[in-house]
Amino acid sequence: MAKTIHCSDMGADCAFVARGETLEEVLAIGAEHGKEVHGITEITPEMVEKVKSLIRDE
Ligand SMILES: [Zn+2]
Repeated sequence: MAKTIHCSDMGADCAFVARGETLEEVLAIGAEHGKEVHGITEITPEMVEKVKSLIRDE
């Protein structure tokens, strides 16, 4: 079972889905995507908590 974060769940108009085997992997992929595509250079603890709450098991 994979864990995913849908970028649209973060409020972005974006179809990207980060998928990984562990929470850490999904967070890392999501952070990289946020930096490259959305120009998010700083991941705050609040953002991490929000992402954690939005992770789905697939
Ligand atoms: Zn995105």
